[in-house]
Amino acid sequence: MISLHDIIWHNGRFLGVEWSVWKGIGLLGNAVFFSRFFVQWYESEKKGRVVVPVIFWWLSLTGTLLLLSYAIRQNDSVFILAYAFSWIPYLRNLVIHRRYEKAHIYCPDCGKKVPPQSNFCPHCGAKLSATASAV
Ligand SMILES: [Zn+2]
Repeated sequence: MISLHDIIWHNGRFLGVEWSVWKGIGLLGNAVFFSRFFVQWYESEKKGRVVVPVIFWWLSLTGTLLLLSYAIRQNDSVFILAYAFSWIPYLRNLVIHRRYEKAHIYCPDCGKKVPPQSNFCPHCGAKLSATASAV
C-alpha cells in the first residue's frame, strides 16, 4: 500500500521533483514575473482604468533577471534568448519613470508634489505659475 509519505517524498525527491537552489531561483523568477499581471490588474481595477504601476516594471525586471540566470545555468539557448533582451524595455521604463518623478514641482500653497506642466494643483486647486519649484 502506498502511503501519503511515499507520494510526497519518493526516491529522495519532494513531489517527484529533484530540488536544487537553481530550481528554487527559477521558480522564484516565474512567481515574480507572473505576479506582475495580478499587480497590474489590481491597480487597473482599483482606478477603474487601465494603468501600469511602476512596480510592474520592477517585477518584470526582477523576474526576467532571475529567469535569465536560471536559463544560463541550465544552458538552454531557447530559454536564454527569451530573456536575454526583454529586460531592456523594463529598465528603460524605470528610467523614464524616474525622470518624470524628478520633474515634479511643489505647490507653493499646499507644498504637495504636483505633476510637471500642471496648470492647477490637484490637491488644493491653486493656480500654478513659474513660481512653483522643481526639485
Ligand atoms: Zn496645492
